Amino acid sequence: MSTQAVAAREVFNAMHASQPDEVVSCSTADDVAAAIKRAREENLRVAVRAGGHSIAGLSAIDGGMLIDLAPMNGVQVDPERKIAKVGGGALWSELDQATQAHGLATPGGVVSDTGVAGLTLGGGYGWLRRKHGLSSDNVLEAEVVTADGRVLHTDADSHRDLFWAIRGGGGNFGVATRLKFRLHELASIVGGMLLLPGSPEVIEGLVAAAEAAPEELSGIANVMVAPPLPFIPAAQHGQLVVMALLAYAGDAEAGERALAPFRALADPIADMVQPMPYAGLFEPADEIEVVEESARSLFLDRFDRAAAEAVVEHLRASTASMAVAQLRVLGGAMARVPAEATAFAHRDRRFMAAVGCVYEDAADRPVHHAWADGFAAALRRDGRPGVYVNFLSDEGPERVREAYPGPTWDRLVEVKRRYDPGNLFRLNQNIPPAPGPA
Ligand SMILES: Cc1cc2nc3c(=O)[nH]c(=O)nc-3n(C[C@H](O)[C@H](O)[C@H](O)COP(=O)(O)OP(=O)(O)OC[C@H]3O[C@@H](n4cnc5c(N)ncnc54)[C@H](O)[C@@H]3O)c2cc1C
Repeated sequence: MSTQAVAAREVFNAMHASQPDEVVSCSTADDVAAAIKRAREENLRVAVRAGGHSIAGLSAIDGGMLIDLAPMNGVQVDPERKIAKVGGGALWSELDQATQAHGLATPGGVVSDTGVAGLTLGGGYGWLRRKHGLSSDNVLEAEVVTADGRVLHTDADSHRDLFWAIRGGGGNFGVATRLKFRLHELASIVGGMLLLPGSPEVIEGLVAAAEAAPEELSGIANVMVAPPLPFIPAAQHGQLVVMALLAYAGDAEAGERALAPFRALADPIADMVQPMPYAGLFEPADEIEVVEESARSLFLDRFDRAAAEAVVEHLRASTASMAVAQLRVLGGAMARVPAEATAFAHRDRRFMAAVGCVYEDAADRPVHHAWADGFAAALRRDGRPGVYVNFLSDEGPERVREAYPGPTWDRLVEVKRRYDPGNLFRLNQNIPPAPGPA
């Protein structure tokens, strides 16, 4: 364990740059336990960082102690048993590289520089969600250091309540120092970007095609104004487009068949969908310096022409430098897990939407926040609440509750009381151990 004054791994979002009093760089579970014990003794605020990609900036802390897990990035793959053991600070790129060397994979996110632990503890939506479920659905066991400094092994037989809670409940219950995943055979995929005109017809049709597609196919439709990128014809720059990112987890011929309905929606502006290794989906992203952003996410049960029109209307109305609506069709393997089986309980929701914009000047924040709220309200016409915890910004306790529907919240509070009664782990989308302010 080493203690340093500067963060070893930067946070993704420059909006959330911060200065902890100390960064405790941990290499083992015992390092984490020692840091936690000292934080308790000295009454320090504690933040935990794996990949640094918290959308709400929850792994950034001013003052207090940052437990930095970046050195715990080991990955061990057992190709015979199809399992991988992953350190609590590993990135998806590290896990994917190790598993793909054996033609195997476990569901991760859609970019490779997020942390395995941060993404998995909240649920984990990626390119394999309809075929193999969420990242957290593939966790077989975990090692967790709890607020009292114990290093616990948890799985379906031991500390079952904790095992249930960490699959969706985020970092509320302790620091995950190791996760064991189930792996699946995945030699290659058919995937890439299909760029289509951003009309209401195409947006509605694309969502319908994604829902009708075989479970091997998962994707994201990004509706946005076309940026001046080299692969986009100049005539399209500034026009509304759908940048559909598609992944078919199966052989090339079946993939081509599954993709035909998408290609038939309109003459593609660009078609880069092709057979490739799974890792090919994770090309390094353009470095976008996010200065200010306003974003909202929600689940939907209906997506019709009126919703598609609302998407077009709100994107056109945005005055930000960039605005986007991201649409994901759910279902398949992730929907077959019973709602009560894990702390991620939104199993029956059909779609997930995220709307957001980026801009430069904090003074414009109220305008853009109002835009994002209005956009989300226009999509949520059924009035049913629900949000994915890892896509929450800093939106207050009511929105955190929306992440845990029905009896899930009460059960999480019980588990929190058992493992972290003093709410040491509160720099997260917090589940307080007692009602009222934490
Ligand atoms: C560019 C980008 C793309 C994304 N894409 C996806 C996506 O495709 N699918 C998806 O599901 N989500 C996605 N997300 C959301 C992502 O799942 C969350 O932001 C997640 O928290 C990031 O994990 P991290 O380890 O990188 O973050 P960090 O900022 O390091 O951690 C976030 C929080 O997770 C908790 N945490 C992290 N590690 C541990 C640990 N080992 N033990 C206990 N608690 C821990 C802590 O509470 C911490 O505050 C994306 C986010 C970004 C910024």
